[in-house]
This record gives sequence, C-alpha cells and structure tokens, in this order.
Amino acid sequence: MRCYIGIGSNLGDRQKNMDIAIQRLRETDAIEVNKVSLIYETEPAGGPEQPRYLNGVLEIETDLAAIELLSVLQDIENQLGRERIVKNGPRTIDLDILTYGDHEINEPGLKVPHPRMTEREFVQRPLRELIKDKPRTSRGVYSEQGRGSQVRGKG
Ligand code: ADP
Ligand code: MG
Repeated sequence: MRCYIGIGSNLGDRQKNMDIAIQRLRETDAIEVNKVSLIYETEPAGGPEQPRYLNGVLEIETDLAAIELLSVLQDIENQLGRERIVKNGPRTIDLDILTYGDHEINEPGLKVPHPRMTEREFVQRPLRELIKDKPRTSRGVYSEQGRGSQVRGKG
C-alpha cells in the first residue's frame, strides 16, 4: 500500500530527530521509504506557546495493515522520547498517517485520511510536492485513479 506520512518535530535537535525517525522507518522490513519532501520550518498550530516546528511528508510503500503501521510509528515516537503531557504540546517527533492508499478508516484510535490534513499548510505544501501533477479528491487526498475525484484547492 502506498501511504503518506506526516513527520514533525519541535523539541531538541529537530533535524536529527527527523533523520533518526526516517532511518528507523527505512530499517523496518515491511516499509520502503520512497520519497522524502523538503522540510519546512512552521509556526505551531494550537496548543501552548512552543517552539517552531520542522515539518515534512514521506511517501512510503508498506505491506502492513494501517493499525500495524500506526503501531510502528508510535514505537518510533516512543523510542525518540516522545511524552504526551498537553494536547498539541511540543514533541520530539510526531508521525501521522495522512493517507493509506485510498482507504477510509474511522476508528477511535485511527482516522484516515488524517482529519486535519487538508487545513494544515505545513502538511499540504510538502504533500503537493510529492504528488505533483496528480489528481486529488475533494478532501485533498491523492487519488490514484482520479476516480470520483474533484480536483480542488491549490497546486
Ligand atoms: P496529534 O498528532 O493529533 O497532535 P498525537 O500524535 O498525540 O496527536 O496522536 C494522538 C492520537 O491520535 C494517537 O494516539 C492515535 O491513536 C490517534 N490517531 C488517529 N488518527 C491518526 C492518524 N491518522 N495518524 C496518527 N495518529 C492518529
Ligand atoms: Mg500524531
């Protein structure tokens, strides 16, 4: 399955945290990291006052089920010392599943496509870069076949 993963960091050595997380993904047997977007420095969206983020998007190919992929991402977050103290608070690393093929998942612990991805320029900009020239659905999601897609929005 082709998936897009949002990656962000705003604590410690941000670039190093991102590099380690990407390296861990590359080392995971069931995951191929095919593309890494440019990394952007962005203002925090919501939460307490906190440092600026580095954000990017990865294109991966995986045999894992979505829930297994989430668990791999959370393991990497935990290895990098991620602590959840306040909602939308600062983090050494954040790894979110933006899309999982063209699947829609609506479970308590997993919503795909990521519900807030379309409103976040720090996601859309690197995502556009990776899926350039490809049609997207009305929800801003890459649609492989352009099936039922309404191309909308920027880029
Ligand atoms: P956020 O990324 O929203 O700032 P967290 O990284 O702390 O916050 O994630 C909170 C919860 O979001 C996780 O425990 C996870 O179960 C849930 N979640 C729901 N959908 C997704 C998704 N598409 N990708 C990653 N986490 C998700
Ligand atoms: Mg997250």
